[in-house]
Amino acid sequence: MTWDFETDPEYQKKLDWADDFVREEIEPLDFVFPHKQFVPMTDEMRKIIDPLKDEVRRQGLWATHLGPELGGQGFGQLKLALLNEILGRTLWASNVFGTQAPDTGNAEIIAHYGTPEQKARYLQPLLDGECFSSYSMTEPHAGADPTLFTTQAVKDGGEWVINGWKYFSSNAKTASFLIVMAVTNPDVSPYKGMSMFLVPTDTPGVNIVRNVGLYGEAINEGSHALIHYEDVRVPEEALLGGEGQAFVIAQTRLGGGRIHHAMRTIGMAQKALDMMCERALSRQTAGSLLADKQFVQGYIADSYAQLVQFRLFVLYTAWEIDKYNDYKRVRKDIATAKVVMPTVLHDIAWRAMQVHGALGTTNEMPFFGMIHGAGVMGLADGPTEVHKVTVARQVLRDYRGTDNMWPTAWIPGKLEAAKAKFADVLELEVGNL
Ligand SMILES: Cc1cc2nc3c(=O)[nH]c(=O)nc-3n(C[C@H](O)[C@H](O)[C@H](O)COP(=O)(O)OP(=O)(O)OC[C@H]3O[C@@H](n4cnc5c(N)ncnc54)[C@H](O)[C@@H]3O)c2cc1C
Repeated sequence: MTWDFETDPEYQKKLDWADDFVREEIEPLDFVFPHKQFVPMTDEMRKIIDPLKDEVRRQGLWATHLGPELGGQGFGQLKLALLNEILGRTLWASNVFGTQAPDTGNAEIIAHYGTPEQKARYLQPLLDGECFSSYSMTEPHAGADPTLFTTQAVKDGGEWVINGWKYFSSNAKTASFLIVMAVTNPDVSPYKGMSMFLVPTDTPGVNIVRNVGLYGEAINEGSHALIHYEDVRVPEEALLGGEGQAFVIAQTRLGGGRIHHAMRTIGMAQKALDMMCERALSRQTAGSLLADKQFVQGYIADSYAQLVQFRLFVLYTAWEIDKYNDYKRVRKDIATAKVVMPTVLHDIAWRAMQVHGALGTTNEMPFFGMIHGAGVMGLADGPTEVHKVTVARQVLRDYRGTDNMWPTAWIPGKLEAAKAKFADVLELEVGNL
C-alpha cells in the first residue's frame, strides 16, 4: 500500500526553508521592484537578487522542474508542486528559484526537441537565468483554435522566411529569442503542417508593433507583444524538432505550463484565505467579530473547501505526471485543474475582498490583482471552455451509449433483473408464506 499524503522529512525541511526565505527575503522584492521580474536587471537589482539566487542554488532548489542533466534537481512534479505553492504567493519567487513561466515551458521543449547546438545557444543561458524567452503562438485573429493560424514560414535556399502576425507574445520585449509557430505546409492538415522556430529577437524583420498591457497598466507599456514578422530570415537550423511537429511540441509545453500555473495558484488562493481569516478575527461590527457572523463563516468554510479540493487534485495530477511520465496520459486531469483554477482563485479572492470592506477594493490591498489574475488564468494557455471540451471528451471515452430504449439504470428494468437473479429464493419465500 503506497497511497500517502506525507512529505518525506528531508524534503519537508527544504520546504520549510523555502517558506521562510520567500516570506523574509523575496516578498519585499514585490514592493521595491514591482512587476520588474522580466526586465533586464539594473546593478542595484543584481546586488540584491543575485545573492538570493545563489542561496537558492546552495540549497539545491534552483530550477527544480528540470532533470539533473539540465542543471536542475530532477525532483519531479509532485515535489515541484509543493514548492510552487510556496513560490506562488509572490511575484518574484519563481524568478529567484529559476522556475518562472514562460521560460520553464520554453526550456522544457528545447530540452526535449533541441539539437545540441540549439541547447548550447538557447537553453543554457535560460537555465542560468541569464536571459528571457518568449513563446509566440497566438495570432490577432485566432487564439483558442490554432488551426486558424496563418503566419507562414517558407523555405528559400538554406533559409526559412517567416511572415505573419503574432499577438500576446509575453515578455517578447525583453526576450533574447522567440519560439514561433508557423505554417510550413498549407496543403496538409494544420496538425501536420505547422512547425516551431527559434528566432533571436534582434533578427531583422521582427517588429514589435505594440506592447499590450493588462488592465491597470499604461497603454503600450505592457509585456504582451503584438509582433509583425516581416520577411524574417532564419537558417534551416532554426527549426525546433522536425518539420510539421508544432502541435506535438505545443502539447508538451502547454501541459507542463498549465499544471505549474495551478501549483502557484494554490499559493495565491491560500494567501487570500489567510488574509480573510485574519480580518475576520480582527474586525468588530454589530456586537461581535466578523468571524462570529454566519455569512463570514460561510465564506471561510466555502473557501477552505474549494482550496483543499483544488490542492489535493493538483498534487494528485502532479503525482500522476511523475508516475506515467506522459503528459498525454494525464491530459484529462491537467485540463480539469486548468478549468477549476480560475474559479477557485476568483471565489476566494472575491470573498476576502468583501470581508475587508472598502479597504478590500483599494490599491492598498492585493485582491483586485488576484481577481484579475483569476481572469488571466481562465485564458492564458487556452480558454476554460476549450479545456472543458477536452475534459468532457476524455471522460466520455470511458463510457458507451446503450441501444436500449431505456437507460441502463432505469429502475423498473433493474427491478425485473434483480427479481430474475434471485428468482429461486424469492419464489421459495413466497411459497413458504
Ligand atoms: C496574460 C496572458 C498571457 C499570454 N501569453 C501568451 C504567450 O506568451 N504566447 C502566446 O502565444 N499566447 C499567449 N496568450 C494568449 C492565450 O493563449 C490566448 O488568449 C488564448 O489561447 C485564447 O485565445 P484568444 O484570446 O484569441 O481568444 P479566442 O480564441 O478569440 O476566444 C475567445 C473566447 O471565445 C470562447 N471560445 C473560444 N473557443 C471556444 C470553444 N471551442 N468553445 C466554446 N467557447 C469558445 C471562450 O469564451 C474564449 O475565451 C496569453 C494570454 C494572456 C491573457
